[in-house]
Amino acid sequence: MGTTVYERQRPAASVIAHALDGSRRSVFWLDDLPPQPSRPAVRGTVTADLAIVGGGYTGLWTALHAKRRDPDARVVVVEAKTVGWAASGRNGGFCEASLTHGRDNGLSRWPDEIDQLDRMGLENLDAMGRDIADHGIDADWERVGALGVATEPHQLDWLDDWATDAAARGERGVTRLDQAAVQAAVASPTFLGAVFEEHTNALVHPGKLAAGLARAAEEAGVQIFEGTAVRTLSDDGDRVVLETAGGRVSAARVALATNVFPALLTRNRLMTVPVYDYVLMTEPLTDEQLASIGWSGRQGLSDLANQFHYFRLSRDNRILFGGYDAIYHYGARVRSSYENRPESFEKLANHFFTTFPQLAGLRFTHRWAGAIDTSTQFCAFFGTARAGRVAYAAGFTGLGVAATRFAGDVMLDLLAGDATDRTDLEMVRKRPLPFPPEPAAALGVAATRWSLDRADHNGGKRNVLLKTLDALGLGFDS
Ligand SMILES: Cc1cc2nc3c(=O)[nH]c(=O)nc-3n(C[C@H](O)[C@H](O)[C@H](O)COP(=O)(O)OP(=O)(O)OC[C@H]3O[C@@H](n4cnc5c(N)ncnc54)[C@H](O)[C@@H]3O)c2cc1C
Repeated sequence: MGTTVYERQRPAASVIAHALDGSRRSVFWLDDLPPQPSRPAVRGTVTADLAIVGGGYTGLWTALHAKRRDPDARVVVVEAKTVGWAASGRNGGFCEASLTHGRDNGLSRWPDEIDQLDRMGLENLDAMGRDIADHGIDADWERVGALGVATEPHQLDWLDDWATDAAARGERGVTRLDQAAVQAAVASPTFLGAVFEEHTNALVHPGKLAAGLARAAEEAGVQIFEGTAVRTLSDDGDRVVLETAGGRVSAARVALATNVFPALLTRNRLMTVPVYDYVLMTEPLTDEQLASIGWSGRQGLSDLANQFHYFRLSRDNRILFGGYDAIYHYGARVRSSYENRPESFEKLANHFFTTFPQLAGLRFTHRWAGAIDTSTQFCAFFGTARAGRVAYAAGFTGLGVAATRFAGDVMLDLLAGDATDRTDLEMVRKRPLPFPPEPAAALGVAATRWSLDRADHNGGKRNVLLKTLDALGLGFDS
């Protein structure tokens, strides 16, 4: 087996220790928010036309757009903790247009509708930017594009294929950068080449986006309840009842936006598994430190390995550096104890200084983790239950910042019984396969991770297991 650049070019242990020393185990994006309004819990009986379970992006977009469609509707959001505390407040803030976790994944599953899916994804991203502006949401939205960088020689062919395919389809704004060009954009000794996609990506401050969506929804008349976990969902005549510890919500329609958390519908219990992803945030770079990298285009970056990193600048010129380890825990539970994994933070710090050795001496202020909402098709699945009175969308697999807005519209279409371009999509109509129950899930994930790591060490070559999973359209990703 070969080695990766992170094994060949290791920074000094003292640089890592200094950088991590004093970092807080806390989510920068949430720490960076001004004090948020405190919202009540559900008490007694609340009635609504539409009740949404979950106050992440999916739930908040659904609420905001429900009021746009019908300003008189009584819309409530019921959130177990606080708005945006989970994936929506702790992600990388990459808003990718793709609704399918990248074109390749969408192409392999829905070849007949991939162009339509890509077009709808781009429209969704454009509309998201407009919504953010129209609602006066200050979420550090930057339409800066994205760089996919090769850090191993075998990935250069993938860059060529990517750029050639985009050119053949007449896609605008996709540029292949050679080593000198990528170095001129962002200086790292690990970057061998890149593809720049100008139009398909924006960056956002995840915490400000969640907080701003909640504020905008409330201004539109939505009522948000916090500290209220929904325990069960049941029928009550032609209404649906959500039971909580302190009361109940009776609603004509329900949208489930609970993502990777235990599903309220039995049919969805095995549809997602939480895969833990780890993130570091640096202190703000000085002008001199930033100049040593360049990065004047402020692009979002990720590398092309199976176990990949993603990194970006914040508005105040910190660097967020996340990814690589994707840790699954037996039993598929969401637990805060899984967020503390020193070896993952150390690995990330190592890889950070391999990527930017010129920043030796820089410190990390924050380290955190979150559960990636993995589904077997690597992107959201949708459906209805209870005679069409309940809709659900979940399983964004680490690419939900923009796709959740689209998902909210899908759920509203489904609940209204409207046939739209969205509900016509096979991607929306067909449910993917569930994950197997334990112990098969843990064994399968472990074998897949091992295979992906081997492929990264072996010129990208996929072994029999990965090829079989590819052929079955099954997999595990973050
Ligand atoms: C570390 C990390 C990095 C990521 N980076 C990116 C990125 O850069 N770009 C990208 O596109 N995506 C990224 N993602 C994925 C993205 O954050 C998610 O896909 C997206 O936020 C999903 O939004 P959501 O509202 O569906 O789920 P969540 O934000 O998880 O919200 C679900 C909410 O439902 C609530 N809930 C669950 N069950 C109940 C119940 N029974 N009763 C009441 N409330 C309930 C939860 O408390 C939670 O607040 C990342 C994820 C993680 C964890």
